[in-house]
Amino acid sequence: MYFPKTNFLLLLLACCWACGEPASAPTTSAEQPNPTNMNMTYDDYPVYVGQDLGLRYRPEASDFRLWAPSAEAVRLQLYETATGGTTLSSHPLEKAPQGLWKLQLPGDQLAKYYTFQVQIAGEWLAEVPDPYAVAVGTNGQRAMVVDLAQTNPPGWEKDQRPPLAHPTDIVLYELHVRDLSLHDNSGIQNQGKFLGLTERGTQNPSGQATGLDHILDLGVTHVHLLPSFDYLSVDESRLDEPQFNWGYDPQNYNIPEGSYSTDPADGRVRIREFKQMVQTLHENGLRVILDVVYNHTGITEGSNFNQLVPGYYYRQDTSGGFSNASACGNETASDRDMMRKFMLESVEYWVREYHIDGFRFDLMGIHDIETMNRISERLAAIDSTIFVYGEGWTAGASPLPAERQALKRNTRHLQSVAAFSDDLRDGLKGSVFEHRERGFVSGQEGRDESIKFGIVAATEHPQIDYPAVNYSDAYWAPQPSQCINYVSCHDNHTLLDRLMISNPEADEAELIRMHTLAQTIVLTSQGVPFLHAGTELLRTKEGEENSYKSPDTINRLDWSRRDRYAGVFDYYRQLIQLRKNHPAFRMRSTPMIQQHLEFLDLVEPQLVGYTIRDHANGDDWSDILVLFNGRAEARKVPIPTGPWTVVLQENAVNEAGLARVTAAELELPRQSAMILMKR
Ligand code: CA
Repeated sequence: MYFPKTNFLLLLLACCWACGEPASAPTTSAEQPNPTNMNMTYDDYPVYVGQDLGLRYRPEASDFRLWAPSAEAVRLQLYETATGGTTLSSHPLEKAPQGLWKLQLPGDQLAKYYTFQVQIAGEWLAEVPDPYAVAVGTNGQRAMVVDLAQTNPPGWEKDQRPPLAHPTDIVLYELHVRDLSLHDNSGIQNQGKFLGLTERGTQNPSGQATGLDHILDLGVTHVHLLPSFDYLSVDESRLDEPQFNWGYDPQNYNIPEGSYSTDPADGRVRIREFKQMVQTLHENGLRVILDVVYNHTGITEGSNFNQLVPGYYYRQDTSGGFSNASACGNETASDRDMMRKFMLESVEYWVREYHIDGFRFDLMGIHDIETMNRISERLAAIDSTIFVYGEGWTAGASPLPAERQALKRNTRHLQSVAAFSDDLRDGLKGSVFEHRERGFVSGQEGRDESIKFGIVAATEHPQIDYPAVNYSDAYWAPQPSQCINYVSCHDNHTLLDRLMISNPEADEAELIRMHTLAQTIVLTSQGVPFLHAGTELLRTKEGEENSYKSPDTINRLDWSRRDRYAGVFDYYRQLIQLRKNHPAFRMRSTPMIQQHLEFLDLVEPQLVGYTIRDHANGDDWSDILVLFNGRAEARKVPIPTGPWTVVLQENAVNEAGLARVTAAELELPRQSAMILMKR
């Protein structure tokens, strides 16, 4: 979701746009159900310790368990269909210790739909699926009884994560399911669907690869999917009409989004198709990251959480209303036992049932540090290569004390959890809130320390003047694997659009110079690089800043750009290959970076250079020299003693050598990068 820096008002606006509903004013305490006993707080609610909440299906009987400690009565309503129709039968649940309610329904209930309803103070609240539901029908209104084993595609039991030696080997590609395949020139059959990511051999009209083949050509290691759990804003009953949303408005956390399936009414279809997608990506060597939005729900009073245990899953402000650090009308309370338990069990479920390889936490600063560390530990116990990262900020003030928030500046307290570096992002191109502001690549002096900060992945390095870094006055990543370096993502303008706004005088050739310089810095920096899908095609959203519900014509990837910008694509492909071939760009620890990476003393502003010495991280190159010129004019710079072999220059890459340099100084063309090496 949108990034808040310091300007909460701006953020508030920006974030709300992405939530699918306008942020509502906090409700008064009178409107919000509170613990029934006036002396009781939510923290006094009994905690259920069992691991069996939700549905356990067997052909002989189905067992339902729901945690609802403030309920006087709970009933389950059974239905034949996903929506509409009359109730087949209604069944009271039996109260049990620890706030639990349970029910066993004898007989085979397969493919029936159901809801829960709780009674509080004599009133029945709305019918909703429980948070632990694993299947729902159209628009997520009713849960569905499924046998998960029957949803597995053939060969699923043999599905394996592609190998990953270390997190700094990761190259992330942030993709919206629908964007990839919606343009007719994608050649993809299953447009806008999970299955669109399973199609091989697809081409644009001139025969260039599209879709999955294109991603494989590019060479990234992980596909990071924008919200693909069941969200609210797309009406799954009207899929013949074009509808687009990013999906930052969660409805059912443990279930894939229905509009990305070929049949949202049958809850089994989206499960199977999601698994087919993961299986195909795995078979092709790609890992899969889910963008998870546990920090708020798409609606507040009416959410599944709030209809079952009113108030409990959310934080309250001083007047007892919903606090709003998400700028979407509510914020969840990861610091409360049963919300924390839900998050822990939810991510584990996605890993075990869907073989997900990592998670990107939206507005991670809303979650408390302990929850994030428990999540990291639990996932590492399953597979230590599962990768966790998030937005180390909030979109508004939270009642959770700042020292407990999983903020970027608290990353040193997070175990193996990474945060996005807005320092490098805005150092490269200017603040996301000041559209005309320029950065290192687009003509702004004074950003060099922010660039150097990105190059060492926000770790501690003796040559960085931390007070001169744009947002951070100290290092924040204890290890390079805890820093996500990027220059653009789904939020804000695409990199090309931003450069066109900040540099209206620049022609296309110059914009390409700036674009490729920015991504060259991202892809050669230490840490974990992150690419917004389509940046390799100079993606444009026609200047639109917040496209969270813009038409497909704005959001979809246009595959004709693979022809038009073939040179740019080829350069990015080679750049990723260079990073993969050379472990010196992927050093694994802060001491290793401190030992091998040394910045040059270039006095002129908007010039940054450094060497990586002595076969860093086992590289077969003994020394590497990296130079960046953000200025609009060529500059001569002094370089360490050669001879050097040029391997990257003017968007050409050749590891065998493009040229040989023996002189003590080198001319760096305007707005360009140069990489040289010694064997
Ligand atoms: Ca949905």
